[in-house]
Amino acid sequence: MTAIKRLAVLGSTGSVGEQTLAVAAAHPERYAVAALAAGRRVEKLAEQVRRFRPRVVSVADAAGADELRSRLAGDVPCEIAFGAAGLDAVATADADLVVAALVGAAGLRPTLAAIRAGRDIALANKEVLVMAGALVRREVAAHGVTLLPVDSEHSAIFQALAGADRAAIAKLILTASGGPFRTWSEERIARATVEEALRHPNWDMGPKITIDSATLMNKGLEVIEARWLFDVGPERVEVVVHPQSIVHSLVEFCDTSVIAQLGLPDMRVPIAVALAHPDRLPLDVPRLDLAAVGRLDFETPDTKRFPCLELAYRALRGDEAAPAVLNAANEISVEAFLAGGMPFPGIAAANQAVLDAFERTEAGGALRDLDDVIAADAWARARTREWLAAEAGEGGRS
Ligand code: MG
Repeated sequence: MTAIKRLAVLGSTGSVGEQTLAVAAAHPERYAVAALAAGRRVEKLAEQVRRFRPRVVSVADAAGADELRSRLAGDVPCEIAFGAAGLDAVATADADLVVAALVGAAGLRPTLAAIRAGRDIALANKEVLVMAGALVRREVAAHGVTLLPVDSEHSAIFQALAGADRAAIAKLILTASGGPFRTWSEERIARATVEEALRHPNWDMGPKITIDSATLMNKGLEVIEARWLFDVGPERVEVVVHPQSIVHSLVEFCDTSVIAQLGLPDMRVPIAVALAHPDRLPLDVPRLDLAAVGRLDFETPDTKRFPCLELAYRALRGDEAAPAVLNAANEISVEAFLAGGMPFPGIAAANQAVLDAFERTEAGGALRDLDDVIAADAWARARTREWLAAEAGEGGRS
């Protein structure tokens, strides 16, 4: 008989949040939902509150809190909070595991609050480690909490490392699907539409991460995430393109043995691994049939057509704040691309221009605390907006 694990979910109406609740709902004997934080999808959150009966919920702002209150019409007793304080209330609610599934930089502060409150973390929000890897590692050690990966590649490495002596790791090998433009020419990629970039071949994910998969920035962010999650230098993290997304990642050991984790691409599996750790949870999802898959292909990533991957390595080798700068630049440039009117290669160009500017003018500082991270993030957001505005101006004149 296992004790009920109480979950707090940051980002409950997003793709990972919803799948987390689906896994929890399939195992009511093992999981209870203690707290939920969402953004603006109040209607969906109201459904989740009715179904899972959390004690604490949070939405983006006061108007959303009012809407949630009237949707629930007093028949579901829970504390309703909003904004940064609301995220903190969910992050530090009485729970055993906090599922950090917000998207982007917004997740850093509440995830740190959860760590400082001694909560174990299931981390889907990779930007937390991308922006503040060294700081988060220090806090995790200081508060004795467990940091479990939800990102499928990192879950694969985590599973491949089970029982292994960390000193025996030769390298970590992250697989990348290559995204929807893997076989496209540079000229065709230059004309890619938002709709085409959102058409991921294997994974069903939110729009930001789907665009990041098309640029390979997602893999770059995952290299940075792996560096901090498993404490290995960037020279020992490799990327191989694997279009079928069946091998989710691999570890090579000092004796040349390579251990891989395989499965059909389904986020419920890495979510269940994190929720159930150290146990395994029976899951009712499609099973891998290797004979039906037939073949598995691997190729070297093309950093000429997809320069974002190389930018991530550059950021990791540089200043401690450089990954936070690259991440912020990328959030703004992806937002601009999704809004329309900016060519797809503009994302990589903006990211590179801002990283160049950072290395020229700002480098040399360490990340001592959250304020330093937030300052680097804000600096990069402002520079990226300036760069995009200047580009749009030039485009208009030509
Ligand atoms: Mg991933």
